[in-house]
Amino acid sequence: MKTPACYIGSMQRIIALFDIDGTLLRAGGAGRRAVELALGEVLDELDEEVSLHAVEFAGRTDPWIVRSALTQYGVDADDDLIHEVLARYIAHLPRELERADGFEVLPGVLALLAELSDREDLVLGLGTGNTEPAAYAKLARGGLDSFFGFGGFGSDHSERPEVLRTALHRGLERTGAQMKDARVVVVGDTPHDVAAARAIGAHCVAVSTGRYEASTLQAAGASVVVSDLRASAVRSAFDRGTPE
Ligand SMILES: [Mg+2]
Repeated sequence: MKTPACYIGSMQRIIALFDIDGTLLRAGGAGRRAVELALGEVLDELDEEVSLHAVEFAGRTDPWIVRSALTQYGVDADDDLIHEVLARYIAHLPRELERADGFEVLPGVLALLAELSDREDLVLGLGTGNTEPAAYAKLARGGLDSFFGFGGFGSDHSERPEVLRTALHRGLERTGAQMKDARVVVVGDTPHDVAAARAIGAHCVAVSTGRYEASTLQAAGASVVVSDLRASAVRSAFDRGTPE
């Protein structure tokens, strides 16, 4: 049941910021393949097959990944080249997502997003290293795109704390709330999500459906660690409490 609008004025606002890969879905390697194809086009003169197995994607932003990959190939990347690779990546991504047999929406995600999107004291946003078009391409493949009206993206910044800070500002704008009246909850699957959440003073729900084990996420300083988003502790993290 929705909270009557007349009560909203005095209510604490909750800003929920979700990571995508390993948290909401697994893209089945589509992102990695699309980056490899994009790099293959740009590095054509090197005449070698591009493989990014040495580059760790988890928790990183798209521009960070592309810069690391170009460095691996001995290319000193400037911003123009990174943008060119990202544009080619985004062009390849929908087709690779369609082809990805291993694509899956993770357990509990659909029910949780449906539940949270029904609350008028909460706004649902993204805090992801994906560029904005890549984020929505992945979400659309899983039927999740309509849940998210704003976010912070890899296209905003190459460093994750700044991505989350951007998402937080957009969330505050949407709610009209001030920071003192907001509870910010970040949901992610890597120590990078946890560190970025802590950097902006947010609660962090860490979920071990990605590449990192619960003990690692706990050690990184997550407020709550769960094995998947069906856990009741996830709901509790979105309960209203004392504004912080
Ligand atoms: Mg992730």
